[in-house]
Order: sequence, then C-alpha cells, then structure tokens
Amino acid sequence: MKAGNVFLVGRPNAGKSTLINALVEKKISITSPKPQTTRRIIKGYWWDEDTQIIFWDTPGIFGKIKDQASKKINQITPAALPQADLIVYLIDKTRPRGSEENKILGLVRKVKKPKIVAINKIDLRTPDYTYEYKFLEEEFDAWIEISALKRINLKTLLREIIERLPESGQPLFDPKTIESFPAEGITPQRFIADLIQEKIFLTLRQELPYTTAVKTERIEEKDEIFYIKATIFTIADKYKKMIIGKKGATIKQIGSLARKEIELFTNKKVYLELNVETDPHWPEILLE
Ligand code: GDP
Ligand code: MG
Repeated sequence: MKAGNVFLVGRPNAGKSTLINALVEKKISITSPKPQTTRRIIKGYWWDEDTQIIFWDTPGIFGKIKDQASKKINQITPAALPQADLIVYLIDKTRPRGSEENKILGLVRKVKKPKIVAINKIDLRTPDYTYEYKFLEEEFDAWIEISALKRINLKTLLREIIERLPESGQPLFDPKTIESFPAEGITPQRFIADLIQEKIFLTLRQELPYTTAVKTERIEEKDEIFYIKATIFTIADKYKKMIIGKKGATIKQIGSLARKEIELFTNKKVYLELNVETDPHWPEILLE
C-alpha cells in the first residue's frame, strides 16, 4: 500500500485549515508537537483500501516576529518538517509575494521530498498574483490550481499526492481509532486558546508590537451547541484598546475568525464570548 505524512505548508491565511477540512471531511485530530509545548499541529486522516495519508496542518510562519508567542509558533513547522513524506506548498494567489512567503519557501526548499505547489483561491478572479509564483513550476514536482473553499480540483490534487507517496509495507494508522475533537496531547481549552491567539496575530499583524495570552475560561455543550468563554490578557491598556478596536470591530473580527474555525473542527454551532483584560503581570505561564 501507499502511505505517508503530507504537510500543508503556507503563510497564514493561505487556506491550510480550509484545505485539510475539505480533504478529509472531519476525520481530524489535534496534537501537541511536543509534550512540553502547547502549540498545536492538526492532523487529518484520509484512507481507502490501499492508501493512507496523514495531512498535517502546520501553523503559519509569521514574517515579522513581534513577541514570544509568535516566536514559538514560528519554530513548530521547521521542527516538524523532517517527518514529511511529501509537501503541499499552498499559495494564496490573491496576495503578492513578500518576505514572509520567501521565508516559507526557504524552509520548503530544504526538504528533499516530493513537493507540490498548490495555487489556492482560484475561485476569486482578482486579485491574481499567480505570475509572481510561476517560477515555482520548474522547481516543484507538480503545479495545481485549486480552490479549497469551493472544492475545485481537489480530486486532482489528491491524485497527484497519492502518485508521489512512498510504498509502505504496513499501515500508518488504524482507521477505527481515529477520533475527532477533542484531541491527543492537548486539551480543548488549550486548543481554543491557541486558535484565538492565532487569530489575534492574523488580525493585528500590521500593528504595533503587543503582548497577549489567551485563557479559555469555560466550555459547555448544550443542545448540540458549544458555549465558549475566553479571555485575552494583555499588558497595557493601550494594547487592550488595539485588540478591541474601533467600536469593537477588531475583537469582533478575531472572535468571528476563531468561532468559524472551532465550528469547522467540532462540526457544531459555537457561541464564543471573548473578553479583553489588562494585566501588567500578565500570566507568562499561559504561554509555557
Ligand atoms: P490558514 O491560515 O492557512 O489555515 O487559512 P484558512 O484555511 O484559515 O483560510 C483563511 C481564509 O481564506 C478564510 O477566510 C478562508 O475561508 C479563506 N479561503 C481559504 N481557501 C479559500 C479559497 O479557495 N477561496 C476563497 N475565496 N477563500 C478561501
Ligand atoms: Mg489555519
């Protein structure tokens, strides 16, 4: 049979989480890469009679390192990459290349395994920066244009992946034991806190340096709905203001991004209550 670990690599917002969910349809687990760390790696399991794939949704690499938390996130993907049997390098064609993209390409280049470049978001006609990435066509083993969201060309992508997977004498996992949420090696509280942290970075990355930590206060499930309460801690009132944004627009954006992704992984409706608090002695332990 063919079996292997397939890494989805790409900058934040390229569409990695969307793609993994579209490919594996809910057979997902969340794993902490090392027992000592809390940051997560999400794995999705795909199989049929003669193929087994574990897709790794690696956290994005942040171009500009602003604080301890993003520094830690940036270390996860390089540390895990040697385990890859194949890499799918996901590119958001609606954004031009930049230093962040180059940083990721640098990482991908070091891995001597089959590599597929997947140009994502082709359902959006514009903006289109595909031409800025064309040079990759020669360097990579395959070039595929997809839409993770609209599920365009995903079957082709899967076929191209399977074609390049190593032959294996034994299965990678036992499909019977694959569970969905919650996860191995990481608590749902930590998973949700990390997700919110990621969305804070995504939403505020162009802004001033800041320092945050997130704590999940409560998770309750009632009538198929998850009620979640979480607090974002920051060290000064000016940062609190930034996180909340004008008329609460920024915190709303962060909450909405986080909620959607939690819904993806739980397959349940989610109510997310997010609070921001200033704490000059902000709890370092939350970052571990
Ligand atoms: P990640 O940070 O790489 O995991 O990216 P996400 O999967 O969270 O996607 C980031 C944003 O891009 C989300 O709002 C997705 O809905 C959106 N997105 C992902 N794939 C596509 C796509 O193929 N087309 C469009 N239009 N949007 C997409
Ligand atoms: Mg993601």
